[in-house]
Amino acid sequence: MTITRYDATRDDLAALLAGQPRYRVDQVWTGLYDQLADPSEITALPKAVRTELEAALPPALEAVTEQTSDRGETVKWLWALGDGIEVETVLMHYAERSTVCISSQAGCAMGCGFCATGQAGFDRQLTAGEIVEQVVQAARRARDDGRRLSNVVFMGMGEPMANYDPTWAAVERFHADLGLSARHLTVSTVGIVPGIRRLATEALPVNLAVSLHAADDALRDELVPINRRYPLSTLMDACAGYLLAKGRRLSFEWALIDGVNDRDRDARLLVERSRSLPLPAHVNLIPLNPTPGYAVQGSSPRRVREFRDLLREGGVNATVRRTRGTDIDAACGQLRATHATSEPVAIRARR
Ligand code: SAH
Ligand code: SF4
Repeated sequence: MTITRYDATRDDLAALLAGQPRYRVDQVWTGLYDQLADPSEITALPKAVRTELEAALPPALEAVTEQTSDRGETVKWLWALGDGIEVETVLMHYAERSTVCISSQAGCAMGCGFCATGQAGFDRQLTAGEIVEQVVQAARRARDDGRRLSNVVFMGMGEPMANYDPTWAAVERFHADLGLSARHLTVSTVGIVPGIRRLATEALPVNLAVSLHAADDALRDELVPINRRYPLSTLMDACAGYLLAKGRRLSFEWALIDGVNDRDRDARLLVERSRSLPLPAHVNLIPLNPTPGYAVQGSSPRRVREFRDLLREGGVNATVRRTRGTDIDAACGQLRATHATSEPVAIRARR
């Protein structure tokens, strides 16, 4: 079986480079991770070695489309993996940082009705290399844009805690080899409790985002079906455990759905849940983004502000997330890796 270039370990490289001087492995590693180079571009290597590695270590991702919006500040890629399955990655430039939103699975089996990925179902797990390469591609693009990729969030397609080992292997690569600090890495989960508990035992203190969306079990069972397996009491207990173990800020994600989870009562319950933790959770409010399979609407901008104020009055830190890339379906919950067949292969807006 061929191994993709960012799935290869140092041992894999050593095996491929048998007969070459030992330092070649470091040269390749530096080329791939420090220079973000293709094997064919690693000029420290002899030409023949470059050619050989380029063939032996194929890229995991082939761009099907690349779309930009927000005047070039948001870039969304649709990638085809080796077996033709598709996933998406979104890069967002902000004044003070550049963040990439990556996929951990092709599709998702969690079935949240308001999420386009959930509506489309599960294809397969991603390998660590497929996850890492999304970040490498984004880091390259950021470099071309005169920026430096600083943050990674696992908020694209899939549930990272349902693909734990590759997710964590990728996190370790981001930190050790791509030089990203743990403070700038965020794992988002729908609330897979064993995953959160395991995360609490890891050495690297990454940020944890929990997609809460409802603060009582009856509503959460409906919005986020996995709640039936891991109800709120268990989930809160795991969150408290994470906070105690890591001392990192925990955030709750809350997609505001008109008339569903944006009532005064929801704000009150959310304040209670947030304040029940050893350190109050920060709440990120996202007005629900439209998806094809969910008829209910996002809350109005006015209600979003009111809801935020109710949380603040209750002593909870809350921010409203600015939506990016809605016009190219790059916003939260809009990723589903379907592309209109009539679309041109590479759409690149004027910049
Ligand atoms: N599976 C993980 C990570 C990917 S989803 C999780 O659920 O946390 C990334 C975020 O987008 C989650 O907070 C999710 O709840 C949110 N989301 C999903 N669909 C959305 C939609 N239609 N509008 C706004 N946010 C949405
Ligand atoms: Fe999966 Fe997250 Fe979408 Fe739920 S919100 S279906 S867990 S990707």
